[in-house]
Amino acid sequence: MRLLVVSNRLPVTITEREGQIKFQKSAGGLVSGLSVYLDSLKSSSIIEKKYLWIGWPGLPVAENRKKEVKEKLLSEVGSFPVFISEKAMDNFYHGFCNKTIWPLFHYFPSYTVFDEEYWETYIKMNQNFRDAVLEVVKPGDIIWIHDYHLMLLPRMLREKLKNPIGFFLHIPFPSFEMFRLLPAKWRTQILEGLLGAHLIGFHTHDYTQYFLRCVHRILGHEHNMGKIIVGDHIVKAEAFPMGIDYKKYHEAVSTKEVQRHKKELEKSLSGYKVILSIDRLDYTKGILNRLQAYEQFLERNGQWHGKVVMAMIVVPSRIGVEHYQDMKKQIDALAGNINGKFGTLSWAPILYQYKSLPFNPLVALYSVSDVALITPLRDGMNLVAKEYVAAQEEKKGVLILSEMTGASHEMAEAVIINPNNIEEIVEALETAMEMSSEERVKRNLLLQKRLQYYDVSKWAESFIHELNDLREEQKKFHKKILGPVQRKQLLQDYKKATRRLVFLDYDGTLIPFSENPQEARPGKSLLRMLDNLAADKKTQIVLTSGRDKETLEEWFGSLDIGLIAEHGIWFKEKNKDWRIIKPLSSEWKEQILPVLETYADRLPGSFVEEKEYSVVWHYRRADAVMGSIIAKELVDYLVDFTANIDIQVMQGHKIIEVTDVDVNKSSAGMHWLDVYNSDFILAIGDDWTDEYLFKILPEWAYSIRVGITQSHARFNLRDSGEVLNLIRRLIRAYEARN
Ligand code: UDP
Repeated sequence: MRLLVVSNRLPVTITEREGQIKFQKSAGGLVSGLSVYLDSLKSSSIIEKKYLWIGWPGLPVAENRKKEVKEKLLSEVGSFPVFISEKAMDNFYHGFCNKTIWPLFHYFPSYTVFDEEYWETYIKMNQNFRDAVLEVVKPGDIIWIHDYHLMLLPRMLREKLKNPIGFFLHIPFPSFEMFRLLPAKWRTQILEGLLGAHLIGFHTHDYTQYFLRCVHRILGHEHNMGKIIVGDHIVKAEAFPMGIDYKKYHEAVSTKEVQRHKKELEKSLSGYKVILSIDRLDYTKGILNRLQAYEQFLERNGQWHGKVVMAMIVVPSRIGVEHYQDMKKQIDALAGNINGKFGTLSWAPILYQYKSLPFNPLVALYSVSDVALITPLRDGMNLVAKEYVAAQEEKKGVLILSEMTGASHEMAEAVIINPNNIEEIVEALETAMEMSSEERVKRNLLLQKRLQYYDVSKWAESFIHELNDLREEQKKFHKKILGPVQRKQLLQDYKKATRRLVFLDYDGTLIPFSENPQEARPGKSLLRMLDNLAADKKTQIVLTSGRDKETLEEWFGSLDIGLIAEHGIWFKEKNKDWRIIKPLSSEWKEQILPVLETYADRLPGSFVEEKEYSVVWHYRRADAVMGSIIAKELVDYLVDFTANIDIQVMQGHKIIEVTDVDVNKSSAGMHWLDVYNSDFILAIGDDWTDEYLFKILPEWAYSIRVGITQSHARFNLRDSGEVLNLIRRLIRAYEARN
């Protein structure tokens, strides 16, 4: 089994020198992090040491060179290219990815561009990636898709493949209020796209919760411990905080190369406390806030003049994008101002470089810096914070870290600040500069221990393990689905039998749910179908419903079938009168109805239905999230309120029903089971009120729960459409004999 890693960028960038294609290793957390894991796959029990990385190779490639590039990439670096033209890259990467998703998911709505052409290209590029995966994938390969460039891809792949699909988002997932700013079509397709994966990973628990909440509010799917069932597919959303290659950073400090850079730095920085500021040029990183705080720190702390420097590295990024250019100008101006204002001929408070540092000088700089000042306004994780701590060989550095980074959730020993509060950053700098050596060591020890334990390999390994476990769970689920073999057996048994009993639930089983219960009236074709099924005199049909007997009578009274109403309180055999299952009282309704009506007033779209011996609060038409919250509150209240009354509170599909404690579908079902000595039993239902009936059936009976969920039923069918298909087959079996 291979691992297919799919990300926008390949781990290498192609270059062309004198007509020759060459590859250069790309930098970046994902590439270096995953490479360690991929190299360690030898020892993995799940995946053999085989992987393929699928992505864009960094440059547009001329049509006549594509074949050559493809072959070279495959044979030399185990990668498979997705070719993207310059124009498409503009709308896809520079457009939808970096001008729509990036600012919005980092809480910069005013920077967000909503452009239909960007969106259309985003769909097309995701299709490009899909086609590339389809070209190379083999049965059993695990597919791991990375990041916000490819959020539509999981679903596109699942529609074509049975392989396990994982997705990891490396940036924050925003709260509903932010996410809903996307046009309805986009936000729906993005969520549906992601839900195509079996496992969706985020850096933090918060991002996971925001995602689940958006899924609930926008698509209406509720989750159970992070698991969502979409059709017959289980998806899990979970937090997997990404670690770093701890060993690599920690051990690098003592290498010759890093020591050489370190010595040079120590020489030029001798006598100064060094505050490190290092990020890509991005408005999310809070570089201006940091400079403002440093300015105030210098203003308030004359004793540090001439004794402190800020080593500020700004890594060029997204050159040409207007917000980035504006910000660069502001940083240049502010850094210049600070140097002009406080500097002397022998001291510059800021040593500013606009470039990227390679690994060795970077680790050397981490290692000589007394303080790392990391102040993003929003950051999915922030790997620099972790790398800085890992490189503290002597455990003396102090990390000041924004609470708006994913990393802050795992690094409580850092000095945590709110980047919008300049005063707080100034105080944090003062604390850091004065912190005792013992305190610094103590904090670093704890931080390092955690980083060492949950490193990038552990991160990748736990993701892949979880994905594998989910696949097993999914398989178990699928085993219960009534497949062709079981269906054939069922039809054979049905044909052979001479006294058949068929229990059919109505709402959600024979007909999909409707917002208004009165709209779910059976159509002519359904009535004809039931009539045809009942035409076989060896078959006794019983419709088992939660509806009141008047409605059932009106809708099905003319058919030659038995009826169960109000979840088993009333029942009616063919050509006989309605009977009550046992003497019941409805006096309690007077107490319960006002409670339900109060809740109906509180939640717009919810309403109360009164039946003879039960009452129901419906909330299908209400706001999904408010509905779930208020429903839980109502159940709590009712359970408490009815503790001394003999009634039960049942939660069904977007309803809460209060009814007599001893009555359910099994009581009425039992009546037929007793009087009708059947040699074939089929019971189909879609919610837990049907479970009572499933439980009392003999083992050999065919019990089927509609929807993929845990059940006492022997089998599952996906939806009411499949139930109707099955009934058609039963009818055909009868008609074929006549
Ligand atoms: N980095 C680098 N050279 C530099 C500055 C940063 O190689 O001069 C690397 C750094 O080691 C880290 C990554 O860039 O792995 C930045 O990751 P982070 O999560 O901190 O921020 P991002 O740029 O992904 O938003």
